[in-house]
Amino acid sequence: MNKYILAIDQGTTSSRVIIFDEEGLIVSFHQKEFKQYFPKPGYVLHDALEIWESVVFCIDKALSKAKLKIDDIMAIGITNQRETTVLWDKTTSQPLAKAIVWQSSQTKDYCDELIDKGYLDKFKSKTGLIINPYFSGTKIRWLLDNVDNAREMAKAGNVAFGTIDSWLIWKLSNGKYHITDYSNASRTLIYNIHDLKWDEELLAILDIPENILPKVIASSGINAYTDREVLGKEIPISGIAGDQQAALFGQTCFNPGDVKNTYGTGCFLLMNTGMEPKSSKNGLLTTIAWGIDGKIEYALEGSIFVAGSAIQWLRDGLEIIKSADETEEMARKAKGNLGVYFVPAFVGLGTPYWEEDARGSFFGLTRGVTKNHIVRSALEAIAYQTKDVVELMQKEANIKLCDLKVDGGAAKNNFLLEFQSDILNCNIYRPKINETTALGACYLAGMGIGLWDKSTIKNKWVVDKAFHPEMTEKKRQELYYNWQRALKACVAFADKMNY
Ligand code: ADP
Repeated sequence: MNKYILAIDQGTTSSRVIIFDEEGLIVSFHQKEFKQYFPKPGYVLHDALEIWESVVFCIDKALSKAKLKIDDIMAIGITNQRETTVLWDKTTSQPLAKAIVWQSSQTKDYCDELIDKGYLDKFKSKTGLIINPYFSGTKIRWLLDNVDNAREMAKAGNVAFGTIDSWLIWKLSNGKYHITDYSNASRTLIYNIHDLKWDEELLAILDIPENILPKVIASSGINAYTDREVLGKEIPISGIAGDQQAALFGQTCFNPGDVKNTYGTGCFLLMNTGMEPKSSKNGLLTTIAWGIDGKIEYALEGSIFVAGSAIQWLRDGLEIIKSADETEEMARKAKGNLGVYFVPAFVGLGTPYWEEDARGSFFGLTRGVTKNHIVRSALEAIAYQTKDVVELMQKEANIKLCDLKVDGGAAKNNFLLEFQSDILNCNIYRPKINETTALGACYLAGMGIGLWDKSTIKNKWVVDKAFHPEMTEKKRQELYYNWQRALKACVAFADKMNY
């Protein structure tokens, strides 16, 4: 009885609930997709109530699959899609409008205005972020300005802002707690990651009233309880972190220099930089990894926009594969790259180029090129882009990367990880539990109720497969040199073109 931890992993396209036992092993899992709203080009919205209902549904299903009751759950951990912005009415708990998703670029013009006014350095030095529609700050302002009565209601003290973690905790606690953790706060563009408070100056620039903001609390520790009326029991909510930070924790990247890369739709590479926030000159983000027991640890983050989604394009756009699983064998069959390089810049280039007008390009095509080479070039591109970010991180953090922990859907691909190890010249480790995001939330929650500490958690991390570099230095340099030439050519083609 009472021995299980329930992790809520609220993602961009689906909600998942995973129940873990006392050893940190998965007992059951349920996932539910929910609707994406695209009312205008560039807009991506979610219905916060639908998200809430999907989470409750997954909790019920995960419990019944494991033949457990809510009484068997001793703690809850929450991890969430980051930056997505919800405003709700505190008196009715109803969202004021649809939530604005991190991917939504509806505040681009306003961001450009802020950049033109010369605010880039101010925001960067205080929040570690660049001015970009991704982050919550400009989305909050958009909602206050565009939703009827929102500003008046906020003045009267009836509006709450939250990222998805805040919203779920509000609902789970029946409106008792309006909180968020340090990692989520650090993605809002209004949280000062050095002073650890909502930044008055930035709030004034963005015209956001402080009374709508949640209290920022530790990522691990008991800071809230579910309400008996909601789940039938008061359960401590003892772990909270944004998805990429949760994955960093789930991969037990506890020491400065520890790095994880998640190969999903895009890639997110995070390096723990310890108690020192390292600032980047070249487009890496500085962010809070987690705050526990009054101690804040920081991370550097690099984002690659297109990774696994290039494989989806081979399947759904080019239709040269039926499933992503085929790509491993096809890439091996190609035997080499035959001089083909693919820069999958479908939506521009992220770290370190930040070239939003770049578009995807193939280089080096000859008559001998087959679909196997095309597939191989897409997998290699994921590895090259990762190397671009790693090279920058090593330089900026002044740390040499020897080991990389990996997770995410595309990390199932052994060819990709072999090539990644070769091209980075470092060891790669894939853990047995690939659900590292939920695992991170579970570990934070378990630590929060005193079940584990970092050293017991470290012992739980088990490798599924290790990959060691075998390529010669000459070959590595030759391939990477050609990739960089392809990239330069792709960027040279980028221009404000009308598509
Ligand atoms: P997200 O959380 O971003 O939705 P996932 O971690 O679930 O992503 O990973 C899904 C992505 O991984 C898809 O883009 C898919 O194309 C890619 N993928 C899945 N299996 C493989 C594979 N065997 N080889 C390469 N890519 C794969």
